[in-house]
Amino acid sequence: MATNGVHGPVPHKSGIKVVVVGAGFGGLGAAIECNRQGHDVEIYEQFPELKQLGDIISFMPNAGRIFYRWGDGVVAARMRPLSINHGGFDIHKFDSGEVALHQPPAVYVKEAAGYHGHRGELHEVVFDYVRKDLGIPIHLNQRIEEYFEEDGQSGIILASGEKASTLSLPLNRRVCANPELLGQCRRSDCIRWCPIKGPTGRPGL
Ligand SMILES: Cc1cc2nc3c(=O)[nH]c(=O)nc-3n(C[C@H](O)[C@H](O)[C@H](O)COP(=O)(O)OP(=O)(O)OC[C@H]3O[C@@H](n4cnc5c(N)ncnc54)[C@H](O)[C@@H]3O)c2cc1C
Repeated sequence: MATNGVHGPVPHKSGIKVVVVGAGFGGLGAAIECNRQGHDVEIYEQFPELKQLGDIISFMPNAGRIFYRWGDGVVAARMRPLSINHGGFDIHKFDSGEVALHQPPAVYVKEAAGYHGHRGELHEVVFDYVRKDLGIPIHLNQRIEEYFEEDGQSGIILASGEKASTLSLPLNRRVCANPELLGQCRRSDCIRWCPIKGPTGRPGL
């Protein structure tokens, strides 16, 4: 059965078109999760080319759990060799050099590991997974100036003035993004129109 690198079969096509502005970790992560839900997603990013920018960044196990589920562990496996794998910290006495305290490393399970490494290298792993593995279009050198909603349409306006990627949700279906896009609703008291009441019937997060 075909997969798109996520657990289980390719999700049904939702018919929802999603535009993500920004290809940082946040935008890339949003695009991957939308893809997992069967949405048609594209990313617009202002930088003209990917560069390995930044310094050290740390992702703790709650984020590592999310990286692990992308591509059945593929993303996590690519990030691991780029991440620091230290054996703990030794705190030395200033005068004698004697080890005063050894702090052991945190123990992680591979399904929810921490990743501490160079931001540019780890970012490139996720960027390439989105563009090459999932085939999600990333439009570079496209600064978004505005978001518009008019006449039942909504979308983004590029710096050139060009309107792009009209979103397919008509205004009268404006919804809480969490259940509609990510297939999950945590708010039992939500009074907005919601396509999903009770169990979503969609792949969970
Ligand atoms: C170049 C860079 C280097 C960084 N280095 C480090 C680091 O070394 N250590 C660390 O802890 N954190 C670093 N950060 C911050 C870290 O990436 C974020 O704090 C965190 O990962 C949140 O990511 P994000 O996707 O929410 O935002 P960001 O990583 O800031 O990404 C936002 C993206 O949106 C794009 N964007 C913004 N406005 C528009 C627009 N109008 N139109 C189109 N695109 C737009 C930006 O160019 C950027 O690529 C860095 C961020 C950047 C952009």
